[in-house]
Amino acid sequence: MNGRFLVTGGAGFIGSHLCDRLLADGASVVCVDNFLTGQRENLKTLSPNKNFQFIEADVVKGVEIAGALAGIFHMASPASPVDYYKYPIETLRIGSIGTENILKVALEKDCPVLLASTSEVYGDPLEHPQKETYWGNVNPIGPRSCYDEAKRYLEAIAMAYHRVHQLPIRLVRIFNTYGPRMRAGDGRVVPNLCLQALKGEPLTVYGDGSQTRSFCFVDDLVSGLIKVLSANEIGPFNLGNPTEITVLKFAEELKRLAASRSEIVFEPLPQDDPKMRKPDITKVQTKLGWTPGVGLEQGLSKTLDFFRASLS
Ligand code: NAD
Ligand code: UDP
Repeated sequence: MNGRFLVTGGAGFIGSHLCDRLLADGASVVCVDNFLTGQRENLKTLSPNKNFQFIEADVVKGVEIAGALAGIFHMASPASPVDYYKYPIETLRIGSIGTENILKVALEKDCPVLLASTSEVYGDPLEHPQKETYWGNVNPIGPRSCYDEAKRYLEAIAMAYHRVHQLPIRLVRIFNTYGPRMRAGDGRVVPNLCLQALKGEPLTVYGDGSQTRSFCFVDDLVSGLIKVLSANEIGPFNLGNPTEITVLKFAEELKRLAASRSEIVFEPLPQDDPKMRKPDITKVQTKLGWTPGVGLEQGLSKTLDFFRASLS
């Protein structure tokens, strides 16, 4: 990977792994983040690298980047339900105003821009598994709407810039991704249950645990992001691991892998929690040859190692 790339949200979970990979592949990286949900700790391995530049800024207020760019990865946005319940207005603003600011940077730099959308554009899906052709089932006034609608707007404004200005956009709909550097306390099922299992606390399963998710290890996801930016295809592309599991089974699997004696307890299901989610990745497999390779057991073991180290 040659050239200089802008990564917004690079102090976050996925963004920091992406910066790591780009640098390892020989690229230069400019990272912009305002630490709304990111962590300075995530930049620890990146900062000493002479090819890494960090700009602390709010993308919603606009960013000025000096010099040429080979491409942009727009990853900035709260992603965890707990985070976007806490920051609903910020979430809408980064998806809308912040996204348009980044599209303008891409126009100015004349470079491709990948925009991180989400499986949440499908809402509580009535089609299963979800293909890119599905238009979704989103509650526009529910508690998740600040995120779902922000990302649907992100896709719409990106398409408008593509149609009006021929901007080379790349749309990816990311499904549940997990791995080291997820923030303790971000409220997502992976950090919650990993830490509960390691501390011997009860594992909190919301609802009866029959809802499903399909978990993709972050290294696989990062390979997919780079593959999509490099290809001459606007997408949208689903990026995720199609191996589906109920949340209850996930909790049991985690308990086993962590050799934990924690009990499993059931707590109320949040409003509008999608009942099932599984990506159909045929499009990205056939067009770009991307398939995730890390299984749940292998990925969760690495994630547990990370959280174990964070506790010591
Ligand atoms: P994260 O919260 O760890 O990272 C997001 C980063 O964006 C944080 O560092 C945060 O400080 C930064 N940010 C937020 N608003 C900003 C602003 N106005 N200006 C500058 N920086 C800002 O989340 P993540 O899990 O790494 O998700 C990254 C992206 O991938 C998000 O766009 C998210 O919607 C998308 N995504 C993630 C998942 C997943 O499972 N992790 C699933 C679907 C989509
Ligand atoms: N969940 C759970 N226990 C937790 C956190 C989440 O059972 O401690 C459930 C949540 O209700 C959802 C699934 O796990 O059904 C995935 O939640 P997460 O917040 O990780 O991501 P989502 O897919 O909802 O965006």
